Amino acid sequence: MEVEAAKCECCGFTEECTPQYIAAVREEYLGRWICGLCAEAVGDEIRRAGAGEITTAEALDRHVAFARAAPRAPARAAEDDLVAAVARLLRRCLDSPPASPAAPPQGRKVAAGSGCPSGGEDD
Ligand SMILES: [Zn+2]
Repeated sequence: MEVEAAKCECCGFTEECTPQYIAAVREEYLGRWICGLCAEAVGDEIRRAGAGEITTAEALDRHVAFARAAPRAPARAAEDDLVAAVARLLRRCLDSPPASPAAPPQGRKVAAGSGCPSGGEDD
């Protein structure tokens, strides 16, 4: 299936969607593309203001302003960084055979090559 990367204008989250879906979202949100989470939030703005009291455009603007004012984009970004760093560290040192033969193999994506380097981080 054909997909394209669409970037949310509110939070910057990138999602892979079919061109049809992207077009449908753009149509609903005045040419902007927003992710499912932000679409929910915009829906909330509308519900909170009361149906008919606020246009989609206004709700969208409110949400964008809110998202931009937020101290930093999703906290999970920092968390992902940490997890990635730890995973990278573990992967480097897991090249040695497991101590217990009964241990199930973990993470098969060990990069070919260098074993456990004595130092130096070069990526
Ligand atoms: Zn978003």
